[in-house]
Amino acid sequence: MMALNELTIAQARDLLAKGEVTSADLTEACLTAIESATTLNAVTTVTADKAREMAKAADARISAGDATAMTGIPLGIKDLFAVEDVPTQAASNILGGFKPRYESTVTRNLWASGAVMLGKLNMDEFAMGSSNESSAYGPAISPWREDGSDAAITPGGSSGGSAAAVAADLCLAATGTDTGGSIRQPAAFTGTVGLKPTYGRCSRWGIVAFASSLDQAGPMTKTVRDAAIMLGAMAGHDPMDSTSADLPVPDFEAALTGDIRGKKIGIPREYRVEGMSASVDTLWAEGTAKLRDAGAEVVDISLPHTKHALPTYYIIAPAEASSNLSRYDGVKYGHRATLSAGEGINDMYEKTRAEGFGPEVQRRVMLGAYVLSAGYYDAYYKKAQRVRALIKQDFEAVFADGVDAILAPATPSPAWQLGAMKSADPVEMYLQDVFTVTLNLAGLPGISVPAGLSSKGLPLGLQLIGRPFEEADLLNTAYALEQATGFSAKADKWWT
Ligand code: GLN
Repeated sequence: MMALNELTIAQARDLLAKGEVTSADLTEACLTAIESATTLNAVTTVTADKAREMAKAADARISAGDATAMTGIPLGIKDLFAVEDVPTQAASNILGGFKPRYESTVTRNLWASGAVMLGKLNMDEFAMGSSNESSAYGPAISPWREDGSDAAITPGGSSGGSAAAVAADLCLAATGTDTGGSIRQPAAFTGTVGLKPTYGRCSRWGIVAFASSLDQAGPMTKTVRDAAIMLGAMAGHDPMDSTSADLPVPDFEAALTGDIRGKKIGIPREYRVEGMSASVDTLWAEGTAKLRDAGAEVVDISLPHTKHALPTYYIIAPAEASSNLSRYDGVKYGHRATLSAGEGINDMYEKTRAEGFGPEVQRRVMLGAYVLSAGYYDAYYKKAQRVRALIKQDFEAVFADGVDAILAPATPSPAWQLGAMKSADPVEMYLQDVFTVTLNLAGLPGISVPAGLSSKGLPLGLQLIGRPFEEADLLNTAYALEQATGFSAKADKWWT
């Protein structure tokens, strides 16, 4: 049998139900794997005592015949989710020492389903980044390496720790958040599945805010089936979040028939961008052919405002971030700078924020403050909101034409070596989000499915984009794609 930490949620659920394993066994296997993988820097806080306690309770619940699909499943939690009494730092020094007195709705839902909390996972500071290199804990490292090289590779970001932890089998699955691609890009970089649900599907309450109109939590898993199972446990209406959708949560797993005959799949011509790697281009063509072979009707579509998505995102996201992050002032949470004699409250704010925020966060706060400032609000922020509406209309028009899902690459290239973007203009990194930010601007669900390897042996993902609140249908198309590509590669466990 596979090592227990290597199981998928669905496999573990079935073994738990048959009484062939216990949650305590699964949990110990994950805790041991975490201990031997400190090199990956994926886990920032291990909550071993809590995990063992929760596993015991889950085993009792399973014995009592009261289990859900998630009961007893050990999970890693991105450091952006408030977990009661567990350090929650958003990978920032400004939240050093902060332990929330409350629980995020998504994690509360997961614990109510019986899932087990293993610990907190690394990420880019305040979820700003695409490589996990802006983390105050230092970068997380991908379990993957290029063929014939031992150079450290980025697991992507901002949910880099989540992706690395799932790909390295340190947990059965993890939570992530996606503001502009932070679930889908790291999933693509690590050969895992990442689902960004429709905006409003999962409550944002208790998740450290980056850009409130774009942020959305979702599952990061080993398979599409697991994404369906876990989303079911995370989602649901929450009166604490006024943007949370008051809609029933369907049985997503039941939708996985793999039958996509007659589905209309759109291939957006504007996603064929300059500088896209040849292996990504090939993968996209192969994925298209596979969906056609599975009985889907493939059509060319146009999303004409795509080229404006990145500049629009990099105005709206920093604007909302600068407003959200104004709460970190040294008074309410975490870090407070030491003052010299004669320094006052303004010095305290300035010093605290200068010490507490890393360079990428400072850059975004300044960008955001600028585009929101009186003289520039109309020229930048308001204009970006208008363009955002046009981007959303592009998708609406395509869906109104009967397109069920859109197939595109998840990223323009495979993962890069750590440090490769260090000297580059920050915009170089922003360009990596070209295929992911459009969905967040439009509020749509998207999923990255591992679909192949690059010429150097690194994973590549394809992205499927669905209609709002039709995750069940999207997951089924992703399931068909997963079956057609048959991706099963795993990273060698070089770190153990
Ligand atoms: N890479 C994007 C950014 O830095 C997206 C991050 C995210 O989705 N949280 O803003």
